[in-house]
Amino acid sequence: MTRSGRFNFETIVAFAPLHAACVLLLWTPFEWSCLVWLVATYAVRMFGITAGYHRYFAHRSFKLDRVSQFVLAFLAQTSAQMGVLWWAAHHRTHHRYSDIEGDMHSPVLRSLWWSHMGWLLSSESRHYESRVIQDFAKFPELRLLNKYHRVPAILFGAALFAVGGFPVFMWGFVVSTVVLWHGTFSINSLAHVWGSRPFETGDQSRNNFFLALITLGEGWHNNHHQFMYSARQGLHWWEIDMSYYALKVLSLFGIVRELRTQNLSDTFKVQTVINSRSSNVEPLRIGKST
Ligand SMILES: [Zn+2]
Ligand SMILES: [Zn+2]
Repeated sequence: MTRSGRFNFETIVAFAPLHAACVLLLWTPFEWSCLVWLVATYAVRMFGITAGYHRYFAHRSFKLDRVSQFVLAFLAQTSAQMGVLWWAAHHRTHHRYSDIEGDMHSPVLRSLWWSHMGWLLSSESRHYESRVIQDFAKFPELRLLNKYHRVPAILFGAALFAVGGFPVFMWGFVVSTVVLWHGTFSINSLAHVWGSRPFETGDQSRNNFFLALITLGEGWHNNHHQFMYSARQGLHWWEIDMSYYALKVLSLFGIVRELRTQNLSDTFKVQTVINSRSSNVEPLRIGKST
């Protein structure tokens, strides 16, 4: 299955049982409220991934105080997608080598399956480049979270069971987490093969309306590869970006500060420019914000 032929058992012990446990739905009493639990737990944790892991920890698209930073990392880790430093470091490496040698989950270099889940199951994903995430690794509480990365997810599942029993645990944790995984992973896989490319980014990133809906805005992936510092990935009004809207609301309350966004008029100026490959190699591309 993998090039190295070895596995990452840290991810396998999460993926295998939770996927298998979905079969238990056949014996789980159904209530319509379970769907509300599914949507709510999916949405709030997807926000943790998109606003937290991605736009904050990987790209520093806005600022938070230290407590809010910890809360966002904790929320993101309830998604059972490894630790905050692991996630953000791998993602910075993805931008540095997008679809060229060194990109760990490129569907262009390897297969769609590899980019979606194969790389996570392989031993190649076990380690991350710690030097690219030193700006956040300096916080001991984040290092602790990263080390015990399963704890937030386990507490989240236990809390749901305590609140609503087995049906709420099944829909709000088991099914929700599995769907959340595939929603997130679709950006690594499908968002590099399916959709439009308004910007010549030097990689194969795509804009995809459907993926943007299910990932709260991450589907505007070609926009993102062009303006990776921007907290706003849907640049036009019709490019729905729920994560950005939520961040905007949080900024009105002062929780989120210095929200960095791409100015749309500047976007039009660069739309016809063929960008050189070198413009995308920095792990943290700091550009003009508005
Ligand atoms: Zn990408
Ligand atoms: Zn990114």
